[in-house]
Amino acid sequence: MSGNGRPLLAVWKFASCDGCQLSLLDCEDELLDVFAAVRIARFDEATPIVEPPPYDISLVEGSISTPKDLELVKQIRRDSRRLVTIGACATAGGIQALRNFADVDEFIAAVYAHPDYIATLATSTPIADHVPVDFELRGCPINKRQLLEVLTALMAGRRPAVSRDSVCFECKRAGHVCVAVAKNTPCLGPVTQAGCGALCPGYHRGCYGCYGPMATPNTDALARQLESAGMDRADILRVYRTFNAGAPAFTEAAEQHGDAHDRG
Ligand code: SF4
Ligand code: SF4
Ligand code: SF4
Repeated sequence: MSGNGRPLLAVWKFASCDGCQLSLLDCEDELLDVFAAVRIARFDEATPIVEPPPYDISLVEGSISTPKDLELVKQIRRDSRRLVTIGACATAGGIQALRNFADVDEFIAAVYAHPDYIATLATSTPIADHVPVDFELRGCPINKRQLLEVLTALMAGRRPAVSRDSVCFECKRAGHVCVAVAKNTPCLGPVTQAGCGALCPGYHRGCYGCYGPMATPNTDALARQLESAGMDRADILRVYRTFNAGAPAFTEAAEQHGDAHDRG
């Protein structure tokens, strides 16, 4: 405990959109309590203050996509007693992990006038591929209630109570009509981790898997159901290759059941 009796909290960003770290600022009703319970040592979105390590808790957003990221994340790990990754970018490589299935040099040549200025890795990978991670909080963006639960649990020295059930559990508990059954709408809820409160089905839309795979996802059964709902292999590839394309269960499902060239 290095912040005058309060744990020192540092918030870090790698390749990401900032949406997950903003979830902490979005805790409007609880923010004063959070800042009373921890001392912010570093949080570039919120304050210019930068305190030196060691840190009690580091929240890490974003994926590893450059050689410089690789060095920094190792230093953060050395400087942090607990390291928690937040969001699909940090836990699965994010939407930018689509580069893992393509030629990154082609992307760079298409986007940048001077590709030689760009120093990047060929892949976008989760933080846990490079350093030990104490807890992974999923979502795109993460749920602020779950973030508060993780911070509270870490300060109390217990395991965070974050379910690895599927979105279907939350959907049924909320009493939503199943869009897959009622409207034949493709829905990744059966293979996606809960945490959002079944947000999309609550608005009569299918889940597109932004929380990543649940603990034991039956992606084969879902692929068969998606096929029977009228999807071809190109569609199935696309549904598994979004924000969590780099999560192993979704990567394997896309490879096994999808085909970029199939059009029925
Ligand atoms: S997981 Fe989503 S919301 Fe969070 S930083 Fe990545 S892109 Fe943004
Ligand atoms: S709408 Fe989707 S998440 Fe809800 S029960 Fe049906 S398949 Fe599951
Ligand atoms: S229903 Fe699915 S896509 Fe929608 S917020 Fe929840 S996990 Fe993300």
